[in-house]
Amino acid sequence: MLRTIWTRVKSFVTLRSLQTRIFLLILVVGILPCILARVAILNNYEERAVEQRSATVSNQLMIVGNHLLTNNYFIDNGNISAVSKVAINAELEMISNLYAGRVMIINRGLKVMKDTYGISEGKTIISEEVIRCFQGSNSTRYDRENGFIELTTPVVSTGADGKSTVIAVMLTSISNDNIVSTMEALQRKAQVLENLIILCILVLAIVLSEILVRPFNQVSNAIMNVGTLENYEPISVPDYVETVHIVDAFNRILKRMKRLDDSRQEFVANVSHELKTPMTSVKVLADSLLAQPDAPAELYREFMEDIVSEIDRENRIITDLLALVRLDKKANGLNISVVNINELTELILKRLRPIARKKDVEVVFESMRQVVAEVDEVKLTLVLTNLVENAIKYNKDHGSVRVELDADHQFFTVKVSDSGLGIPEEAMPHIYERFYRVDKSHSREIGGTGLGLAITKGAVLAHKGSISLTSEEGVGSCFSVKIPLNYIPDTTSAGASDGTGKVEE
Ligand code: ADP
Repeated sequence: MLRTIWTRVKSFVTLRSLQTRIFLLILVVGILPCILARVAILNNYEERAVEQRSATVSNQLMIVGNHLLTNNYFIDNGNISAVSKVAINAELEMISNLYAGRVMIINRGLKVMKDTYGISEGKTIISEEVIRCFQGSNSTRYDRENGFIELTTPVVSTGADGKSTVIAVMLTSISNDNIVSTMEALQRKAQVLENLIILCILVLAIVLSEILVRPFNQVSNAIMNVGTLENYEPISVPDYVETVHIVDAFNRILKRMKRLDDSRQEFVANVSHELKTPMTSVKVLADSLLAQPDAPAELYREFMEDIVSEIDRENRIITDLLALVRLDKKANGLNISVVNINELTELILKRLRPIARKKDVEVVFESMRQVVAEVDEVKLTLVLTNLVENAIKYNKDHGSVRVELDADHQFFTVKVSDSGLGIPEEAMPHIYERFYRVDKSHSREIGGTGLGLAITKGAVLAHKGSISLTSEEGVGSCFSVKIPLNYIPDTTSAGASDGTGKVEE
């Protein structure tokens, strides 16, 4: 339990869990836009509020500017009638109070004619904004840090010739307190809303990440609960396409493992049986000798010969088994050398001719061309010997065996055809299986172990070659072996083996 929790915590921290990634993804995708929207809305509001406030103040200042013009405020250099002055001052004070700011009227000589704060009157102001305003471009500057909006408003006089001249500039700074307090209220509301949304997204992320990952957890639980190979049930989690694929792949592996396990068991049973048979015969022969203390020497001799032949048979089975096991150990690889296939075939046929002669079987070798190939000489010898030996063994008396050798630019082909018993069609798919014999008693009689073709096929496949068979019962068989002239090295690592020497097709 603790271990499971620790594993989950570890995978969460290291982001190795799909659930963690989905959780974080939903969280980021949900929360980020929410925060961005809040910031954007508030910023936009501030911008618009500043714009609106500036426009309102600017309009009012323009009205005041017109009043100043009509009252000849600038012509008389501020010496207007006391009544007008009070009225204009009242207007300026009102603006200044209304917007918690300061208004200064600056003439073309950059001299402050009026300051609602009353501290800069008569002083000269050199400000970029003011100069630019005299040149015709108004400006609005928002200083968020110090909390004010500064704007310049021109007082424009139109002469008799219709020409407009900026005769003064009103430099106004107004507080942004109002905007800030509205912003703060908005911010508080937005924050509460945002917190609520984040909470919802958090819950959604937890629930969704759990739901989305559930089929994968179901797959791993199903895999964990697979029983023994004997009574396994194919697992099924029909949710996502991905889980279906994983489950399918797992079921295929399981099926293959079951096949391998079955074949291993069958192999062990076959080996035990095959090895036991000669031993049983030896025991029966020895027991019957022991049961007859006065048995004649001839009988002893006869029984001993039988015992020796049974031991030879046992020996043959063990040798074949060892050859199979060695073939299966791909890690050992092949001992590749350049071999003259014509000479090798001749040599093999020379060795087998005495057996053929015993059955009066004619062995013919027909070579279309000289063939030199990169092969494992010992293993290819096994292949050819097994095929020609079978062609002789399972032949009729006075029959014939024909060995044909040919090659193209890529492969060489050896065809071993005989005029023998042939192989029934239903037996053909099993012919390369270990210990498979068409006629068990006949094969045993003639010294077969049922391993020859399994060894042959294993050796051919190790050379990246192929073997095929055509046969007609009572007419004869033809085994054809095709092997690349140049050895193709194994690029993959050692293939899966069931450890029993079975050659996977
Ligand atoms: P064995 O050692 O019994 O010969 P093999 O694996 O070489 O084992 O052959 C398997 C079986 O295939 C043999 O028992 C035999 O029945 C059949 N067989 C193989 N080659 C031939 C052939 N040329 N003609 C007829 N039957 C054959």
